[in-house]
Amino acid sequence: MSTKRTAVVAPPAAEAPARRRQAAGAVTVVAEPSAVPVAAVPVAGDALGPTGRPRVRFPEPAPVAEHGPARVLAMCNQKGGVGKTTSTINLGAALAETGRRVLLVDLDPQGALSVGLGVNPLQLDRTVYNLLMEQDVSADDVMLKTGVAGMDLLPSNIDLSAAEVQLVNEVAREHTLRRVLEPVLDDYDVVLIDCQPSLGLLTVNALTAADGVVIPLECEYFALRGVALLLQTIEKIRERLNPRLEIEGLLATMFDARTLHGREVLARVVDAFGDKVFHTVISRTVRFPETTVAGEPITAYASSSAGATAYRDLAREVLARAAAR
Ligand code: ADP
Ligand code: MG
Repeated sequence: MSTKRTAVVAPPAAEAPARRRQAAGAVTVVAEPSAVPVAAVPVAGDALGPTGRPRVRFPEPAPVAEHGPARVLAMCNQKGGVGKTTSTINLGAALAETGRRVLLVDLDPQGALSVGLGVNPLQLDRTVYNLLMEQDVSADDVMLKTGVAGMDLLPSNIDLSAAEVQLVNEVAREHTLRRVLEPVLDDYDVVLIDCQPSLGLLTVNALTAADGVVIPLECEYFALRGVALLLQTIEKIRERLNPRLEIEGLLATMFDARTLHGREVLARVVDAFGDKVFHTVISRTVRFPETTVAGEPITAYASSSAGATAYRDLAREVLARAAAR
């Protein structure tokens, strides 16, 4: 089997791979070499993956001898319930399993990321709110260890909702999160920021702190509603506040391969965004809501489940994309 090495340069929407729609609604992609990202190995036999592109396998990431500086990724979509928090926890845990040091930042006043890792948000002395608003509080003061080796958490609770208002009066208000994270970036390989479902000042802070944006999209009708506004916001932030900012990838979540509907939505997303869409797709399974109750990632709660495997695949794909930049 040959290994194709091709740069991961996502074509603009208009250059998305040519495709034919079959009468039954299934989608056949006319394969193009550029559809194969760097270090990805085409899989023989079963040619097309769930995104309708040639199926690929990402290599086992090499162990790292040293840590940092971290690549900062904002998990962002102003729509709620699309899998931002679930993906933050489980991608983080899967990256930590590869030996990467991971920091998760809960930037949603709902505190779902913290709860999903077994933290009681009402019992926190200090949170991201204190980190953003108080000069003498450092990331180390707020940091918690999680049950996953190598993965730490900056937790939040409802206090953070006040920051949205209070930050408005700060000098360089959009850069506040980046400034407070900078001292710990060398200790980590990846920082994942779980954004709240809005494009307000907290999310602008996340995008200003980030090197890349991961956009989770639920495979439902209206999945793309609001994405144009999100992309405009990202573009403005790149121009005005953070020239480093890139779109890391769009992640299809809650996919149900048994329904024509799910397959069609995914095909539309790939039509619109081409290679920006991760090859890894997260299927819908009740195991994810269960993990929230359990307060641990799926990689620990149901280590050999399809959901755990999917987030491990995503971790490999994210590392492969980062290595190709
Ligand atoms: P967001 O952070 O974007 O609001 P969440 O990650 O909290 O979204 O997910 C919303 C709900 O959907 C949660 O109850 C979560 O457990 C559930 N969920 C997330 N991903 C999946 C999935 N792949 N399959 C089934 N349920 C999921
Ligand atoms: Mg959330």
